[in-house]
Amino acid sequence: MARVYNFSAGPSMLPEAVLRRAQAEMLDYQGSGQSVMEMSHRSKWFDAIAVNTEAAIRRVLNVPDNYKIGFFQGGATQQFAMVPLNFMTTGKADYLVTGNFSKKAAEEAAKFGTANIVASSKDKNFTYIPDVNAINYDKDASYIHICQNNTIFGTKFKEVPQVDGVPLVADMSSMICSEPVDVSKYGCIYFGVQKNIAPAGMAIAIVREDLLGQSAKGMTPEQIPTMMNYTTLLNADSMYNTPPCWCIYMTGLVMDYLEHDIGGLAEMKKINEAKAKVLYDYLDSQDFYTNPVQHAYRSMMNVTFTSPSAELDKAFCAAAAEAGFVNLKGHRLVGGMRASIYNAMPPKAIDELVQFMEKFRKENQ
Ligand SMILES: *Cc1c(COP(=O)(O)O)cnc(C)c1O
Repeated sequence: MARVYNFSAGPSMLPEAVLRRAQAEMLDYQGSGQSVMEMSHRSKWFDAIAVNTEAAIRRVLNVPDNYKIGFFQGGATQQFAMVPLNFMTTGKADYLVTGNFSKKAAEEAAKFGTANIVASSKDKNFTYIPDVNAINYDKDASYIHICQNNTIFGTKFKEVPQVDGVPLVADMSSMICSEPVDVSKYGCIYFGVQKNIAPAGMAIAIVREDLLGQSAKGMTPEQIPTMMNYTTLLNADSMYNTPPCWCIYMTGLVMDYLEHDIGGLAEMKKINEAKAKVLYDYLDSQDFYTNPVQHAYRSMMNVTFTSPSAELDKAFCAAAAEAGFVNLKGHRLVGGMRASIYNAMPPKAIDELVQFMEKFRKENQ
């Protein structure tokens, strides 16, 4: 069996050990005589899966007791609307626009109130992150929203905004669990799971309890559509209706893997830093490929690069796929190439990719 190295930005690779365990448990989950895909979400087996998965996320991400963790359908994109619907109590919020997803989040928020764009890196095609300490934040903003790792442009916040009395909300879809995070700096952290955690079909939100029970200015909490109301779903332990059972189960397996096979997020970070360093060091060592991002803001998860021409980019992606390195084509907004090197991408894949890149360079420069 030949498994490819899948550099897709998402859905993306899962750890092979996790896939094997899911395979082993597929037909008869722990003596239940059925697969997790088939069982009732109210069964004792699934109840244990949901409870254990939540507890494992809490341990792995070191989530304090005054935060709730919930499983939501609709992906990260639905969170773009849920955040203002639930939290925009003053009718306005501050948005930092550092790429396509934060732009979309701000556009969604503008449907419910005023989304103030307090900083943007559009002037340099999102190749850097604005200085978070030089921003004129609104003291009356309901929250500050950031996208902490910009999947498409390959940038990452190295420091996050902290304003007294104004909660920070972060989209961490493409960086969650890549390194430890200080959850207490945030009012809400949300992420689609298909980048670094599980199969597509779910988002997870971690919400500080004092933010529950509210709603956007001009509406009551009861007017929020039920499935978009954090309070309803979180108070029902994500069991208000049928949850995305398979995604929750797979999330549990990945948390178990992170905790026991890897040894926690501090270890995961070391592995990820080493992987990213191999690729960035190579990019900096030659003049055929270029990475446009200001070095201080380089993403550890999404590495963008271009060759000297669009034709060579195309030839590179085709030859790479032939050699077993698939989905290296960059996002249409950026062009060129993008290697998404999430947790499940093995270090040796990066070594082999760099060897391939060097061979391609020699043949084409
Ligand atoms: C992929 C991604 C999204 C969109 O996620 P969906 O689950 O497809 O809605 C949002 N934000 C970031 C940072 C992403 O990487």
